[in-house]
Amino acid sequence: MIRRKFLKTSAITAAGLLAGRLFALGDAERKRRRPNILFIMSDDHASHAIGAYGSKVNRTPNIDRIAREGVRFDNCCCTNSICAPSRAVILTGKYSHLNGVIDNGKRFDGSQQTLPKLLQQAGYQTAIVGKWHLKTAPTGFHYSNVLPGQGAYHNPVLIENGVQKKHAGYVTDLITDIAIRWLKDRPGDTPFFMMLHHKAPHANWEPDEKHATMYKDVDIPEPLTFNDIYESRTDQIRNHRLHVGPKQWELHFKRFGALPDGMTEQETKEWVYQVYMKNYLRCIASVDDNVGRVLDYLDEAGLRDNTIVIYTSDQGFFLGDHGLYDKRFMYEHALRMPLLMRYPEEIKPGTARDEIVLNLDFAPTLLDYAGVFVPADIQGRSFRAIANGGTLDDWRKTMYYRFYEVAFGIGPHEGVRTRSYKLIHFLYGDEGWELYDFQKDPDEMKNLYGQPKYRELVETLKSEMDVLKRQYGVSS
Ligand code: CA
Repeated sequence: MIRRKFLKTSAITAAGLLAGRLFALGDAERKRRRPNILFIMSDDHASHAIGAYGSKVNRTPNIDRIAREGVRFDNCCCTNSICAPSRAVILTGKYSHLNGVIDNGKRFDGSQQTLPKLLQQAGYQTAIVGKWHLKTAPTGFHYSNVLPGQGAYHNPVLIENGVQKKHAGYVTDLITDIAIRWLKDRPGDTPFFMMLHHKAPHANWEPDEKHATMYKDVDIPEPLTFNDIYESRTDQIRNHRLHVGPKQWELHFKRFGALPDGMTEQETKEWVYQVYMKNYLRCIASVDDNVGRVLDYLDEAGLRDNTIVIYTSDQGFFLGDHGLYDKRFMYEHALRMPLLMRYPEEIKPGTARDEIVLNLDFAPTLLDYAGVFVPADIQGRSFRAIANGGTLDDWRKTMYYRFYEVAFGIGPHEGVRTRSYKLIHFLYGDEGWELYDFQKDPDEMKNLYGQPKYRELVETLKSEMDVLKRQYGVSS
């Protein structure tokens, strides 16, 4: 309770100080200093498919520009690793049980407080282009042009301020065209906040013509954990149905070609992996090209220095890691989000941070940069000082994760992660626990739960999880 109060007080104090500082400036100067915000988010783009994060499977020179000219976060985690819930957390700065979108089936209540609404009230021009995926119409935006549901890769329908229109072309190019057009046409006397949300590289992976034959004659390396046999784990991962393997062929790969005859189960798994990864990476190549186009536009328009550019994805993704292609689990590849930020006026180029930051923190961080008061009911906290190269002594050392959806043989689980350890509590099927020491075992291959020498650590982590649940108002 004391901790919760402290966290809230410190967030308010930081925002208050900032508001005070801005208050001392004249109106014109205050407006001039407000940064533009370009928030680029793709869908299911794992950080280990980004050059700046050391990808072994592809190159992303344009996304890497943001890292080279800004800061890379190495421990950015989502609080619920699935599409719509993560988007709702980003919009509200609140955990899923409070924003209402606990799983992909829920509708977002657009009447609630959101980041775009708060920025809009503070005088920002706000826009969302691309994937929305929250079932209700976007609110808090002067301009919206969004895909219905998941949207289509080729010749998609988009809904522009409520009006449906079919477009000819490839979705990643079209979203970028629309975004750049809006940036060109927007009223020039106020700062902007644009959410530029790509559909790619979400399944089913359909590349554009330009990248259709990329990787044709190369083999994508398999991850070290590709043939994980789940030896020390609970049963939950075994029952998950999105393994890279023959059973999933029908589900995701049928459209890309016929499965050759006469292959063993292992050969089939390897063959499917190549098809899946090549198409996934081709979709990313188009995202990367289009990130380059937007960055070039900012340069040409003289907007580079006064615009915060963010690149992230709604969650991570397994790229054959542990034999999976999907997200949902609290394992690192799905839990961690890429997060790159560039803001030449404050952020030092080529820096990296390893503090645990969350999608929960995006809204308060951007409000902080914009000089807008962070409401007390927002659960995240601004990491502006960290992004800018400073330290916050009282920054979180642990994070709480909670997944709710039941689909593909996986169900609810929760857990706590520190900089070194992760404790996962599976709440479905045969309820079970897993403990990983990812300083020693970064691939999370050895479940340590139940070993006597970790008993005390487990009790400490369970207590910490209780503290975090009380702090965030999680009742069960
Ligand atoms: Ca997603």
